[in-house]
Amino acid sequence: MSTKEKQTTKEFFINGVWQTAEENSTIDVINPATGECVAHVSKGGAKEAKLAIDAASEAFGAWKKTPARERANLLWNLYEKVLDYQEELAEIMTLEAGKPLKQSRMEVLNGAEYIRWNAEEARRIYGTTVESMDPSKRLQLKKEAIGPVVAITPWNFPFSMITRKLSPALAAGCTVALKPAEETPLTAIKFFEIVEEVGFPKGVLNLVIGDAPAIGDTWLSDKRVRKVTFTGSTKVGKMLYEKAAQQVKRASMELGGHAPILVFDDCDLEATIQQIVRSKLNNSGQTCISPNRIYVHENIVDEFTDKCKQLIQSMNVGDGTKDDTDIGPVINEQGVQKAESHVKDALEKGATLVLGGEKLQVDGCENGFFYAPTILKGVDETMEIAYAETFGPIAPIFSFKTEEEVINKANDTDYGLAAYIFTNDLSRSHRVSEALEFGMVGINDTVLSQVEGAFGGVKESGFGREGGPDTLEGFLETKFISTIIK
Ligand code: ADP
Repeated sequence: MSTKEKQTTKEFFINGVWQTAEENSTIDVINPATGECVAHVSKGGAKEAKLAIDAASEAFGAWKKTPARERANLLWNLYEKVLDYQEELAEIMTLEAGKPLKQSRMEVLNGAEYIRWNAEEARRIYGTTVESMDPSKRLQLKKEAIGPVVAITPWNFPFSMITRKLSPALAAGCTVALKPAEETPLTAIKFFEIVEEVGFPKGVLNLVIGDAPAIGDTWLSDKRVRKVTFTGSTKVGKMLYEKAAQQVKRASMELGGHAPILVFDDCDLEATIQQIVRSKLNNSGQTCISPNRIYVHENIVDEFTDKCKQLIQSMNVGDGTKDDTDIGPVINEQGVQKAESHVKDALEKGATLVLGGEKLQVDGCENGFFYAPTILKGVDETMEIAYAETFGPIAPIFSFKTEEEVINKANDTDYGLAAYIFTNDLSRSHRVSEALEFGMVGINDTVLSQVEGAFGGVKESGFGREGGPDTLEGFLETKFISTIIK
């Protein structure tokens, strides 16, 4: 296919119209399984970013006054349309993010559930009246949409990160401009084609792709933007938060994590291993809630390690488009290099390699970015892998003796997104989950991205929650109205 044929024609969706950037420079979209360029998308910048905010702020006045029932109907239609395109969306995601098709399909379903949930929540925006101490007064607390919102999303969940941010904003009555990650623009483009088919009023949803700092700076220095919702690295999140502070914009930040798993010797070992291996290797370890530190009680650590090894050896690594693939590539060469350097550092400092530990050559994917699923045991706190996010298919196993010791170790991190406990002792599950300084705790459960739950972190993992009964709060402001009556 020639370069020209691969150029996409739909790129930015601004004010209800598809546009391309005036600049000639493009972003190459790479298939991580093959290293091949699968599309070129022209690179937008400050100009397109401003046009998107012009559109979002123009549309805001009418959208916030659109009856909640109507906003809910449009979101519901979007939910149903997304399901119609499940296979196409999944194929695009696998092409540009590398994840196995079955995981991409699950992501579409999960992302669609957020749209449905927020369609349902749109009609549940309630105000309050409060008795005043002054009998002549009537006091009202009204909930109002905060204004135009900008959303910046990462490549590891190219679809569900978009719907998790856009759907509560729209439900609350906010308009939005989205910038997806440059690695995965094609999923976002397909999503906006679906948005167009559903027929939202023009300017309510806008898409810009391109130069991240230029787009981010334009948005954060524009007074019309009232909130930034971001998922990505702690480094970029801190920078955006600082910029948002200059105009006292609202922000919600879903940042990095370094999730500990505490495996006690009273757990159901088989079920525990199934959960942990599935979670660790989901998206090749490239998730912010991926188990990064697996603490196993010393009585069971050898058996645990052997059984994890057996299970991982039964899984297939390969091109995500193949039906029997369980584990795909990592996103790019830097992803491979990071995995290599974390493993090298751990081995130099005394860890033992149980499985993997090398870059993989996969038949038919010679230029792909594959790293072998890896188990390290004897890991300790001196090693980089014990405190830095790996974002790769590496399971580092630590051993511990006491509950108190493992709680202290688990909390000894700047991050505070997700933690997990495996135990059959009810009292311990309460004690430990209360002692863990994390936004989310799974007890005998590693699946935390559930629409009814509240996804988000504490400490340097960020603030704000996505999903659950409070999800719209992030896009609403309380207006206090006081009336003196005669
Ligand atoms: P990752 O390491 O997972 O790629 P990043 O935080 O670098 O995480 O990226 C997450 C999102 O933040 C992406 O959409 C990326 O383009 C965007 N981003 C990166 N740098 C900036 C920036 N300076 N301003 C605005 N957005 C940025």
